[in-house]
Amino acid sequence: MNTNTNIAPTANFDVEKIREDFPILQTTVHGRPLVYLDNGATAQKPLAVINSMVEYYKGYNSNVHRGVHYLSQKATDAHEAAREGVRAFINAEHTHEIIFTRGTTESINIVAHSFGKAFVNAGDEIIITAMEHHSNIVPWQMLCEERGAILRVIPINANGELILEEYDKLLNERTKLVALVHVSNTLGTVNPVNDIIAKAHVVGAAVLIDGAQSIQHMAVDVQAMDADFFVFSGHKLFGPTGIGVLYGKDKYLNAMPPYQGGGSMIKQVTLEKTTYNELPFKFEAGTPHVEGIIGLGAAIDYINAIGIDNIAAYEHELVAYAVEQLSTIEGLRFIGNAKERVSVLSFLAGDIHPYDIGVILDKLGIAVRTGHHCCQPIMDIFSIPGTVRASFAFYNTKAEVDALVAGLLKAKQMLS
Ligand code: PMP
Repeated sequence: MNTNTNIAPTANFDVEKIREDFPILQTTVHGRPLVYLDNGATAQKPLAVINSMVEYYKGYNSNVHRGVHYLSQKATDAHEAAREGVRAFINAEHTHEIIFTRGTTESINIVAHSFGKAFVNAGDEIIITAMEHHSNIVPWQMLCEERGAILRVIPINANGELILEEYDKLLNERTKLVALVHVSNTLGTVNPVNDIIAKAHVVGAAVLIDGAQSIQHMAVDVQAMDADFFVFSGHKLFGPTGIGVLYGKDKYLNAMPPYQGGGSMIKQVTLEKTTYNELPFKFEAGTPHVEGIIGLGAAIDYINAIGIDNIAAYEHELVAYAVEQLSTIEGLRFIGNAKERVSVLSFLAGDIHPYDIGVILDKLGIAVRTGHHCCQPIMDIFSIPGTVRASFAFYNTKAEVDALVAGLLKAKQMLS
C-alpha cells in the first residue's frame, strides 16, 4: 500500500470539522447524503477558496501587472503571492520557475511544443509509460510526428507497476525526454520517480512528471526529486478549474521558445521584431486567470494549514480500510494492485458493466467514475471496457467507504 508516510495524522486532524469547510459535502443527491468519491476527476472546494475568489471580484477586481492604480496593484500582489505559495508548496528553487497554465494538459502541451522545438530532432527518442493519461500521450505523439522523433513506452506488469528493467533497456543517448505520471489516475500506482529521474539524467535526458494525481496526496519536493518539469491542475488540489501549474527548471525554460505570442510575454515589440519577457512571463501570454490563481493560492494555504503530511497519513489509513472492505465483496477484482499506491481504487465486480454499477451507486448518492478514465491503453492491456473508480480525498470517511460497500452489494444483487 502507499508507503509515502508511516506517521499517523496528528490528533487535531478532525475529519468532521474539515468536512464543514466544504459546503457541497453537506448536500444531498437523490435524497441521500452525497458520498463524493470522484476526487480523481476533480476535488471539492473549501469555503476559503470560494470566498477568496468572491472577495477578489467584490473588492479588487482588476487586471494584473499593467496598472499603477490601487486595485491593479492589489490584484498583482495577490497573484504573485499565489505564485510564491506554489513555489514553496513544491519547494522549487525560484519563483520564476512557476508558470501558470490552464491545467495539467496545457502544461504538458507547452513542454511538448517548446521543449520539442528547442531540443527534439529527427531520430531522437521520447519515453512515456503504458499507464499515462491521454494528456501525457497525445502531445508526445504529435511532437514525434512533427519532428520525426520516436516514442518509446515503458510497459506495466499485471499489478499495474512499471517494469523498470524495460526502462533501463529503452534509455540511451538519443533519449531527450522521459514523461511519466507520478500517481496513476486509473491504477493508483505511485511510480518511483526519483530513481527514474536519476537514470534519465545519466543519459542527459530531461524528465517531466505529471503530478495531477500526486500533488493533493503527498508532499512534493521538486528539488529533492530533481524533476526538470512538474505539472498539475488546480482543480484536483481543491482549487478552481481553469488554472494549473508548469514548474520547470530555469535552465530549460530559458532555453525554450515561447508557446503563445501576445501581451505580457514581450519585452519589446516593433513591427519588425519582438523580444521576449523574462520568466515566468515569457510563457504567460495574455490576461491570466486572475481569480483562478488567487483561488489556487487560497487552496494551498488551506492545505498548508491542515498539513500535507497529516493528509497523507489520514488517507493512508482510509485507503487501507477501503481495500480491506472492498476485498470482502465476492467477485470484486482490483485493476491495479501496486505495492505503492494512493487514493485511487479501480475495480470490477464479476462481469457487471462498470457503467451499470455507476448508475446504481448514483441513485444511492454515491459519486464514482466509470469508464476508461482517459487511459484507453490501460484498458487494452487488461482487456476490459473500463473500471469503476473510487478516488478518495482527506474529507472522505470510513462511513463513506461502508456506504460504497453496501451500495456495491446492492448493485450486485440487482444486476447479477
Ligand atoms: N494527468 C493525469 C494523471 C490526470 O489524472 C489528469 C486528469 N484526469 C490529467 C493529466 C489532465 O488534467 P486536466 O484535465 O486538469 O488538464
